[in-house]
Amino acid sequence: MIVEIVTTGTELLLGQIINTNSAYMAEGLNNIGFDVLYQSTVGDNRVRMENVLAHALTRADIVITSGGLGPTQGDITKEVTAKLFNRELKLHEESLDRIKSHFKKIDRTMTDNNIRQAMIPVGAEAITNYAGTAPGVMLENEGKIIINLPGPPSEMKDMFDRSIKPFLKEKYGYKSVIISRILNTFGIGESSLEEQIKDLILAQKNPTLALLVRPSGVIIRITAKAEKAENARNLIAGMETEIRRRIGQYIYAVDDENMEDTVGAILKQKQLTIGCAESCTGGLLTSRLTDVAGSSAYVKGSIISYTNEVKSDELGVLRELLQTKGAVCEDVAKAMAEGIALKMHTDIGVGITGIAGPDGGTDEKPVGLVYIAVAGKNGTTIAKNVFSGKRKAIKYRTTQTALDMIRH
Ligand code: ATP
Ligand code: MG
Repeated sequence: MIVEIVTTGTELLLGQIINTNSAYMAEGLNNIGFDVLYQSTVGDNRVRMENVLAHALTRADIVITSGGLGPTQGDITKEVTAKLFNRELKLHEESLDRIKSHFKKIDRTMTDNNIRQAMIPVGAEAITNYAGTAPGVMLENEGKIIINLPGPPSEMKDMFDRSIKPFLKEKYGYKSVIISRILNTFGIGESSLEEQIKDLILAQKNPTLALLVRPSGVIIRITAKAEKAENARNLIAGMETEIRRRIGQYIYAVDDENMEDTVGAILKQKQLTIGCAESCTGGLLTSRLTDVAGSSAYVKGSIISYTNEVKSDELGVLRELLQTKGAVCEDVAKAMAEGIALKMHTDIGVGITGIAGPDGGTDEKPVGLVYIAVAGKNGTTIAKNVFSGKRKAIKYRTTQTALDMIRH
């Protein structure tokens, strides 16, 4: 079954809102084995909307729209749908009752405009809106189906999950399932990664592979299609094993898990404690470490040592060192890491010092230069990095790199 998604709304065309509805529906449909071959977006204009829907019907069995079910004159999706299938709009009493009681509940007067929301094409089925007032519409004509869903994401999602997916399942059955698994990597660039698994990408059929660059690193998405979920998972597992054999050391987490989850699990398992001395990251590393539930088992305490005074007074970094070499250098990072471990009595100490920009860079010490030191039982490891990007990106990259160092 081929489904086409048509999102409506002039704000989408103007770029004022991000089209999250499309992504939500596409993912949901793919997951239950329906092919989404086209997605279109059209403004709140009768002629253009009619053209887009008519075109969609030539190449899809089911067209799902979102938006334009509201009470105002600009909300025209149901009218256009009705016209395409040569139907009139008629009042749907049950929906009107729901709308009336909604207004009573919120103690507001209902206007005549709101009655528009209860009008649906003759022969259509109204889909109850449990998250709002405007009902959705499902209209079948000569083997083709148009489904109109509301625009507000919370309403669309509720209706899509509660009514549309079960309807499609019952009518057409789950022909196959599509399952994806994400391998999160760090420390290897997109092209090097591609180089290592090029043959797998070129030969891909089922499962398929995709590389995507994210601020957290490059992710590898493995997607498999099969009649049963178990079979799809087996296909993924086979591919994952081969990828891990080649670049396993760069994979730090799967699916929604992030680097702080992984680091937290390692520290917990090894029963190690940690403290951070953060300069240019301003506490972001500690913030990320403590985003993980149960992090009190390993995070003891940190110091945001932004100025030289704090670096020397609180962490014991030698004043002379700060004066002669400056705050951003290998030795200061090392002294910060060792200083915080000593002060907080932790197994691991992290020292971060760098230039997040946009000002403060020189030829010798450019913006993005960051030293990260990790002090542990087996000595101190120091890494010099030159990150590109804006201030926030540099701060984030720094914490991601520091976490990766702790992981190893
Ligand atoms: P309403 O009764 O609120 O007018 P509606 O069904 O007429 O609902 P729209 O007017 O098209 O829907 O959109 C309402 C709001 O929902 C938009 O202002 C926008 O914030 C959000 N919205 C609409 N379409 C999308 C979309 N494709 N992705 C994300 N948000 C959307
Ligand atoms: Mg509207």
